[in-house]
Amino acid sequence: MKIQEVTKRSVTHERGRPFRPQKSKIYISVSGESVIQNLMNRRQRPYTSYKKELMPEILEKCNLPKDTKVSWSQKAGCACGCSPGFIIQNGPWGNMFFVSVTE
Ligand SMILES: [Zn+2]
Repeated sequence: MKIQEVTKRSVTHERGRPFRPQKSKIYISVSGESVIQNLMNRRQRPYTSYKKELMPEILEKCNLPKDTKVSWSQKAGCACGCSPGFIIQNGPWGNMFFVSVTE
C-alpha cells in the first residue's frame, strides 16, 4: 500500500449553511477502484493495516503531529455507515483529509 495523494478541506459550510463543528476526519480511498468495487468494499476496509502501515505517513502528509490519536469509525462521515473513516480525537476540529492510496 502506498499513499498517492492527500487533500485537505476545511469544512465550515455545507450546502450554504454553517456546518456544526465536528472532529477532524481522515477518509481513505483506494485509487483506481471502480464505483462498484467501492460500494462492495465500504464495509470491509482493511483499516487495521491502514492504521499500522500508513498512519505515520498520513499524519506527516496532513501536517498533523505524530501523537495525533485517530480511531476508525464505520460511521465517520454518515450515520448510515456509507462513509467510514478515521476520526481525529485530539487536535483542531473541522478539517477533512482525503487520502488516496494504491493497493
Ligand atoms: Zn450514508
